Amino acid sequence: MPGLDEKLQDIYSEVLQRNPGESEFHQAVREVLDSLGPVVAKHPEYADAAVIRRLCEPERQIIFRVPWVDDTGTVQINRGFRVEFNSALGPYKGGLRFHPSVYLGIVKFLGFEQIFKNSLTGLPIGGGKGGSDFDPKGRSNAEVMRFCQSFMTELYRHIGEYTDVPAGDIGVGGREIGYLFGQYKRITNRYESGVLTGKGLSWGGSQVRTEATGYGAVFFAKEILQERGDSFEGKRVVVSGSGNVAIYAVEKVHQLGGIAVACSDSSGYVVDESGIDLELLKEVKQDDRGRIGDYAEKRGQSAHFVENGSIWDVPCDIALPCATQNELNGTDAKNLISNGCTIVAEGANMPCTPGATKRLTEAGVTFAPGKAVNAGGVATSALEMQQNASRDSWSFEHTEARLATIMSGIHDRCLETAEAYGTPGDYQSGANIAGFIQVADAMLALGVI
Ligand code: NDP
Repeated sequence: MPGLDEKLQDIYSEVLQRNPGESEFHQAVREVLDSLGPVVAKHPEYADAAVIRRLCEPERQIIFRVPWVDDTGTVQINRGFRVEFNSALGPYKGGLRFHPSVYLGIVKFLGFEQIFKNSLTGLPIGGGKGGSDFDPKGRSNAEVMRFCQSFMTELYRHIGEYTDVPAGDIGVGGREIGYLFGQYKRITNRYESGVLTGKGLSWGGSQVRTEATGYGAVFFAKEILQERGDSFEGKRVVVSGSGNVAIYAVEKVHQLGGIAVACSDSSGYVVDESGIDLELLKEVKQDDRGRIGDYAEKRGQSAHFVENGSIWDVPCDIALPCATQNELNGTDAKNLISNGCTIVAEGANMPCTPGATKRLTEAGVTFAPGKAVNAGGVATSALEMQQNASRDSWSFEHTEARLATIMSGIHDRCLETAEAYGTPGDYQSGANIAGFIQVADAMLALGVI
């Protein structure tokens, strides 16, 4: 296993053998292990207590049937998942993803990433993730509601404000959280606001939670620019995706003086040289639940739609992949480099393949990993939990200021840790090591459990 510290090779082999066919989970584990060589050299106590081996095994994995009836009266069966990965720092916390590609390997990769991300925020939250292979696309509101009610009819017994607190992710936004919360409340007869985050503002939600992941990603990129004495002013930015994370990343880029010139969905991408028209993008993707091609059609001359194709062919100074895992590969990285891109900051979870990351870092492009860059979403979820616990609600300005401070703190922790472990300027190793140490120390303190 080239590149992997000798002491960690057995752990990785065990992960491969115990979790066959779960390639995304293997990739996420490998990416963290690749950074931990200097840590195990300095801290043999982690190996002695099998902390890393324990971290790679979820505390609990729940898989369940989700039966529901569609609008034609046909019974549909989906599969539901919740992986409660690690609760050393607090209740399990992580989103639910509804997408046809969801299977155990994806939920485990996301849950594993979530442990380190949540640790990096410095807030008291453990790591978990869940979801279903249900595809909300093309389904009526009534179908989505019946699916969510059936999903929660099983999930409710596993979650709670002190146990496990789900939120949204791909395919799960405010509408789905509403139906899930409604069913939880109905079954338990408890108005337990802290059991889910991403709630609507009138029923326990937090200001800025909707915007938090996209805004936070841009705040992180702003910190990288500041390190160079630079800013977003006049920068060309490409943002992949056009969902929750992408839309608010575009919004913040524009607020900071940059220009987002392209975004995408799974059907292709649009280039809009005069800058993405945010109101139109929201209308097409949020209000109408339409396709990105509709944006180009409505926008007229300044925009054009490229079916399929790679959005990373579009020249930019800064790339923000905000769609899904492994959406930016080695060839894309090569094109970004030759077009002059100098920063790739991951708004999505693991959007860059290992080949892409290697190419980018070798070429001197600053690469910042999702577990640091997109941590603003879960951090603001934790702020939502704080407000719920104290029966309080904060203003938009106050909450956004807290988010900006948290992102700046995460940025600095990554850099300081990278420096301390002999990889100055390497955000990836800084994020992995800083996230790991906090969880590992808590696990040591709590004993073998
Ligand atoms: P949404 O469902 O709101 O949007 C996802 C976007 O990505 C859509 O535009 C979707 O297009 C596109 N997409 C999904 N799969 C593919 C694919 N295979 N190829 C190309 N495009 C694709 O999800 P979010 O914006 O919430 O999540 C985006 C990413 O950010 C995910 O990796 C998620 O895990 C991560 N994330 C989200 C957080 C949050 O708070 N929401 C927090 C932290 C991370 P289409 O509609 O065509 O499928």
